[in-house]
Amino acid sequence: MAKRGMLIVLSGPSGVGKGTVRKAIFEQKDNDFQYSISMTTRQPRNGEVNGEDYFFVSKSDFEDKIAHGQMLEYAKYVDNYYGTPLQYVNQTLDSGKDVFLEIEVNGARQVREKMPDGVFIFLTPPDLVELKQRIINRGTEDMATIDKRMGKAVDEIKTMRDYDYAVVNDDLVVAVDEIKNIIKGEHLRVTRV
Ligand code: 5GP
Repeated sequence: MAKRGMLIVLSGPSGVGKGTVRKAIFEQKDNDFQYSISMTTRQPRNGEVNGEDYFFVSKSDFEDKIAHGQMLEYAKYVDNYYGTPLQYVNQTLDSGKDVFLEIEVNGARQVREKMPDGVFIFLTPPDLVELKQRIINRGTEDMATIDKRMGKAVDEIKTMRDYDYAVVNDDLVVAVDEIKNIIKGEHLRVTRV
């Protein structure tokens, strides 16, 4: 049987650029890890594709999956559910491949409890003012939603100490490089080889 793969969890406050960093990592073709596509009840944004960016499902479908124990983790975030389907993660890890999750902090906490030997990376903004500006620049949320997300961001940054690594998302290229180096380093741990 193949050695079980490694679970890599990238988390951090919304707007910090987790999605951008994750996409940049997966645009590089030299990775051996697989991205776990999340499930959500939020509406697709312009250009988002079902089954690529997310699995877009109804609230009742999502709640059904929770009830049947089919989610590794899930969180209610700004009035919508987001979560990681369990089966894909387990199958991929069992096949010996690494799995990469990009999720918010409540979900990351649940994963840490269930799979404590994962690698937990916290992406942090250079500062909160810049975070607010980034969310505004993205232009997809109104001001009330931005303030709600900001309040959550302050709480989320406090959770950083529960992670193995902190990466500052100042320069995208540097952040991507640091995350890839963390993953390489983790593979060299004597407890993993
Ligand atoms: P957005 O609506 O901007 O795509 O995502 C909102 C937040 O949900 C982001 O912080 C994103 O990382 C997080 N998120 C995406 N997928 C998942 C997931 O499967 N589980 C959890 N807990 N959070 C997720």
